[in-house]
Amino acid sequence: MNIRDAIINSMKELNNSTTPKLDIELILCKVLGVDRIYIHINLDKNLTRDEEERFRYFLNQRKEGRPIAYILGNKEFMGLDFFVKEGVLIPRSDTEILVQEVINLSKNIKNPLIIDIGTGSGAISVSLAKFIKCSKVYSLDISDIALEVGKINAKNNGVEDSIVFLKSDLFSAVENLNLQSDIVVSNPPYIRKREIYTLDRDVKDYEPLLALDGGEDGLDFYRRITRESLKFLKKNGILAYEVGYDQADDVKKIMLDNGFDSIKIVKDLSGIQRVVIGFKI
Ligand code: GLN
Repeated sequence: MNIRDAIINSMKELNNSTTPKLDIELILCKVLGVDRIYIHINLDKNLTRDEEERFRYFLNQRKEGRPIAYILGNKEFMGLDFFVKEGVLIPRSDTEILVQEVINLSKNIKNPLIIDIGTGSGAISVSLAKFIKCSKVYSLDISDIALEVGKINAKNNGVEDSIVFLKSDLFSAVENLNLQSDIVVSNPPYIRKREIYTLDRDVKDYEPLLALDGGEDGLDFYRRITRESLKFLKKNGILAYEVGYDQADDVKKIMLDNGFDSIKIVKDLSGIQRVVIGFKI
């Protein structure tokens, strides 16, 4: 079997994927240890029996719904490379809007101190540490796998000295540190419990429920984080969230009820209200 046959023959097997050809090419890249250009200029190259076996193995995983990012072990976010594995949410391009907004807002703050609640793979924290000259980013997560993966990503992207990773139930680990931060940022779990079954198979069967389940109305973490963040934010400090497609107004109300002001809602590239930002009065 050559590369061309591998692509053509497997296309129909991945009819559950929205990007079957890309998935196959990326699996071939992984198996052959090459980049995509190589694939395209070597379509006649034969696979060895061992390569063919490994190709089949990963193709079958993809067929069953395992996300390509977990198969490859990495995902690009904000132009940076992130290691991912089961147990951490795969970084989404939607979240880049949140990061970009925080980068813009931080231009007016000298060496901001940032707290990231529910850091997961570290995508938000690492990008902020990379693109903002911050004094420190506190990356908090209750999941040991997330902290382990986050630390690897901080190191791989050369920002390990700017980030402190702590195992924490929301703010619990910084409770006694007397932190006064400029920015609290979070992409918390926000899917309504009863809607989890409606998610794509690839998401609900493979990604961590802990990072998705936002309770009955999906807003549990916004209520808790907004209330608790007051203690850790300076006056005029910024609270910045990613929210679900229909949650912006509810989250805005939670912020207003807790004494935040000048609430700003930002749409993503699909026109969905994706980011909500408030300022502590
Ligand atoms: N955007 C994710 C999804 O729809 C959910 C992320 C989250 O709950 N924070 O799969």
